Amino acid sequence: MMNLPSAITLCEVGLRDGLQNEKTILPTEEKLTLLRGLIDAGFRVIEVGSFMHPKAVPQMADTDELYKAIGEVPGVELRALIPNLRGVQRAVDCGCKKVKLNVSASRQHNLKNLNMTPEQSVAGFASCVDAAQAHGIAISGSISMPFGSPWDGRIPQEEIDAIIEAYLNVGITEISLSDTSGMGVPNQVYAMCSHVREKYPQASWWLHFHNTRGLAMANIVAAMEAGMTQFDGSFGGLGGCPFVPGAAGNISTEDVLHMCEESGIETGIDIVKVIELSRSLRDLLHHDTESYILRAGRSRDLISSQNN
Ligand code: ZN
Repeated sequence: MMNLPSAITLCEVGLRDGLQNEKTILPTEEKLTLLRGLIDAGFRVIEVGSFMHPKAVPQMADTDELYKAIGEVPGVELRALIPNLRGVQRAVDCGCKKVKLNVSASRQHNLKNLNMTPEQSVAGFASCVDAAQAHGIAISGSISMPFGSPWDGRIPQEEIDAIIEAYLNVGITEISLSDTSGMGVPNQVYAMCSHVREKYPQASWWLHFHNTRGLAMANIVAAMEAGMTQFDGSFGGLGGCPFVPGAAGNISTEDVLHMCEESGIETGIDIVKVIELSRSLRDLLHHDTESYILRAGRSRDLISSQNN
């Protein structure tokens, strides 16, 4: 029998991972409306934006403004991606209380872009941890492409462990495994999740799957089966990745919500409100997105309409 959790936590990352890949730059007011809608739908963790250089990621240039406008929302963690110490400073200045660093698990990618191994990159985050802690900002870390990269193929588990240990060494215990390249498969995901949970019980894990090859949902279920309970999703299935050829968006949040709803897994999130938000997003961006539930609706709605 399958051993799925009775409840999970979903983080909505569409405002960051989704919108950063869009040609259309949404006005701050539109983003705020979406953010308020997500809070109202019940999300308790939301990735609001990033503090990258505005020239590198112009779509996220107004992240500081979003934080100032929304203020602190009790019970809701509003997370931002940061590249370095400058990101912590921007978080301090705008009132952001949760930041996330990222390193690529690909040695080749890291060496080519930063001239460092992934472990050296993570060791360099120590100053970010110190600065964040000094200002009461929680800090987490992400490892992108742990399930494989276009440059290295499959990455040995020992190399992933070395990156995890580098994070733990600088005092970061909340770690996201982010399948940016969409190369993970369920048995591999199950094995890695089981392994890291057992070997690093002090860590809190997030899983982040892109649906590039249609395997994101299967990978989520495999991770759940291995005991994972924290997942990212992107409303409307929005997203991509500038580094990865043909990258698709994150698993659509409403698809995950629907699977959970039909499987008896609590999320605390109102799927009907999320579907509405994903529709409005599609209208704002003027293109279709990768979401089964937006296309087909919930299975329970189908049944009730046929009975009418
Ligand atoms: Zn992503």
